[in-house]
Amino acid sequence: MPAPTPNRATKGAAAPDMPPGPQLIRGEILHFLADPGPGWNADATPAFAHHEDGGLLIMAGRVQICGAWDEVRAAAPPATPLTDHRGRLIVPGFVDTHVHYPQTDIIASPGHGLLDWLERFAFPAERRFEEPAVAQEVAGYFCDELLRNGTTTALVFGTVHPHSVDALFGAAQERGLRLMAGKVMMDRNCPDFLRDTAQSSYDDSKRLIERWQGVGRLGYAITPRFAATSSPEQLEAAGALAREFPAVPVHSHVAENTAEVALIRELYPWSRSYLDVYDRHGLLKAHSVYAHGIYLDAQDRRRMADSGTALAFCPTSNLFLGSGLLDLGQVLDDGIRVGIGSDVGGGTSFSLLRTLAAGYQVAHLKDYRISPLQAFYLATLSGACALGLEQQIGNFAPGKEADFIVLDPAATPLLARRMATAQSLAERLFLWMILGDDRAIAASYVMGRLLWQRPS
Ligand SMILES: [Zn+2]
Repeated sequence: MPAPTPNRATKGAAAPDMPPGPQLIRGEILHFLADPGPGWNADATPAFAHHEDGGLLIMAGRVQICGAWDEVRAAAPPATPLTDHRGRLIVPGFVDTHVHYPQTDIIASPGHGLLDWLERFAFPAERRFEEPAVAQEVAGYFCDELLRNGTTTALVFGTVHPHSVDALFGAAQERGLRLMAGKVMMDRNCPDFLRDTAQSSYDDSKRLIERWQGVGRLGYAITPRFAATSSPEQLEAAGALAREFPAVPVHSHVAENTAEVALIRELYPWSRSYLDVYDRHGLLKAHSVYAHGIYLDAQDRRRMADSGTALAFCPTSNLFLGSGLLDLGQVLDDGIRVGIGSDVGGGTSFSLLRTLAAGYQVAHLKDYRISPLQAFYLATLSGACALGLEQQIGNFAPGKEADFIVLDPAATPLLARRMATAQSLAERLFLWMILGDDRAIAASYVMGRLLWQRPS
């Protein structure tokens, strides 16, 4: 007889395969229906719903009703259990659209730019994943760290080892997390110990797709690391997978750093641009995600928008590795789908609040002001749209999966003090994103189950 799933300390949740019955959540609620744009005026847009005294009625892990508390309570069956979060703000769980779980243990490692950092830190760290036990241990820690930071969905790089994906999906499944991930494809310009081949990467990726795609809340992503570490034959193999599995997106990097862009020009002299290398191999498709895109030109941006390919904005990574400043206003104007990416370990925090703070500063230096409303939209519904998951997550529309987090306005003495002077919803959101971090996440719920609660 299998051992029962243990209740996780401080996470007191039922086993993921047993969805809870009806439940009521009460508190201030905010979620987005569309992009609120750069304005600060919270009354001027129908792009979001805000209930000062709001409620969520959840059945079998899905949102039934979200609205004013009185209406939601009236619609609930008698004796429905209630969790009261009044005094705090409930928003949909954050969506991290680009992160490397094998780099958890090299976060905050100082390199001299991307290529040096990969050689000195990332590749040796990823070598450790030859050992399945290492992959399993890091995968469990990584999933818990996501939850501690209010991230309930992520698009994740594994390593070149297929079992790195098995370990991550196993950990996600155990917690009921919605996650997308893939095995890295990498057959050149990297150490021998991390090298696959065009054929083996195709075979291994295909096996993983067949094993995991659409299983529960899990989805696969075809994951060539970047054009410099894949031969043309391997990009061809990735393109073959992309055609063979139309529902499976591609996840990679593009135009992150000037030295990297120059290297791509050397390796692919026939290409019009870095993005063009992927395009010629059939790797731009709807809901695919490319991280960074700092050095795309107008034609590239148009191609991304037209193909439905999304861009993951990773500002802490771009600053930390000295990569450059994304022109977010231009990218949004061009109609490209945008998600926020922590890009740990090049990025410096798992917290999307910290990432939004850096994003605000990077955008500001490029003459674009992200409003706090737009920032929270980017970290929730926009991220879900980037991953093609807008039917499942991203806001509290009826039928969606009840992944949500609870933000504490008094998480630190300074936050509490500054919140006391805030006049509007937009101002409070701004304080959370500029002053907040993992401490601001009081609780994280996945499919209506409490999976993380900050110890009081
Ligand atoms: Zn990355």
